[in-house]
Amino acid sequence: MSVNGSPELLIVMTPGATAEHVSAIVHRLAEAGVRARVSRGREATVIGATGDGELLAALPLDGFPGVDQVVPIVKPYKLVSRELSSGPTVIEARGRRIGGGSFGLIAGPCAVEDREQLLETARAVAAAGATMLRAGAFKPRTSPYAFQGLGAEGLELLEEARAETGLPIVTELVDPRQVELVLATADVIQIGARNMQNFGLLAEVGRADKPVLLKRAPSASIEELLMAAEYVMKEGNAELILCERGIRTFERATRYTLDIGAVPVLKAETHLPVIVDPSHPAGRREYVPALARAAVAAGADGVIVEVHRAPEEALSDASQQLAPAEFAELAGELHELAARMGTGVAAAPASPPG
Ligand code: PEP
Ligand code: MN
Repeated sequence: MSVNGSPELLIVMTPGATAEHVSAIVHRLAEAGVRARVSRGREATVIGATGDGELLAALPLDGFPGVDQVVPIVKPYKLVSRELSSGPTVIEARGRRIGGGSFGLIAGPCAVEDREQLLETARAVAAAGATMLRAGAFKPRTSPYAFQGLGAEGLELLEEARAETGLPIVTELVDPRQVELVLATADVIQIGARNMQNFGLLAEVGRADKPVLLKRAPSASIEELLMAAEYVMKEGNAELILCERGIRTFERATRYTLDIGAVPVLKAETHLPVIVDPSHPAGRREYVPALARAAVAAGADGVIVEVHRAPEEALSDASQQLAPAEFAELAGELHELAARMGTGVAAAPASPPG
């Protein structure tokens, strides 16, 4: 049974498969009247084949050179599914990895506010052992009157921070019209919670050649998050990191309810790295370390933590951003926990924290 043109079979190529091996299969599928979609990941290339189920089953695809395995699909999500890939997907940006035993410690201010704020914070998180710098140049805010970010000027400052610290840049894309602008700076493109089901935006980043950090929407089920990831992968971009950042429940004591259970579920369902944002669900800085530790203990491949040079002066999310010293202490704890969990350790601090 074919559901609206979704792949019926996934042909996973071996890491050593050549472009000729891939095109031989695409050619064979075309001859048989079957549509093929090629998705090139860092680990392996995958071909999704859509067409008549019986016809597909009759094709002797596993005999072709370069084919690792042929996987029939049963789940509504396919490309993101664990069935697709035996090993975990590892995301790499400028030599920093997340997944497969490398722990990602992503940190930085909610927004780029000015040069000193960004550079001071970037230096502090780098010294504490962060592996990537995250800050928004474009901010999706609940109120149209709130600070919306510095835009292009913020991106320039991020480049300066990267040049100084060597940390890859994670920054948010909120509008498909800014895709080129943001891609020129970002090493990892963040798609925020509010845009998790912005399908046009997902398709744009699905055609980009940079990894995507996809945040779960506060009212989205785990399956909806995986389907959103599927939109990105279907366009050919297999470099994805999933992020749990708290969901909306009746509880008001925290800003959102961190769905810690999503971590083991996602790890079981998908080969993609799973990280947790403890800052937005906490809403208050004193709750952030406990949620971050819980995330690592649950098996997350990384965390993304808001840190500000002077949190009390922050133009957005002031109450939840950690001061540099608080982050340095937390980074040390997470480092140890991740080592115990086998999710790895963050890169050693460039210089001693503090
Ligand atoms: C953010 O990361 O600063 C942010 C706006 O998060 P979210 O999209 O999860 O609300
Ligand atoms: Mn924020």
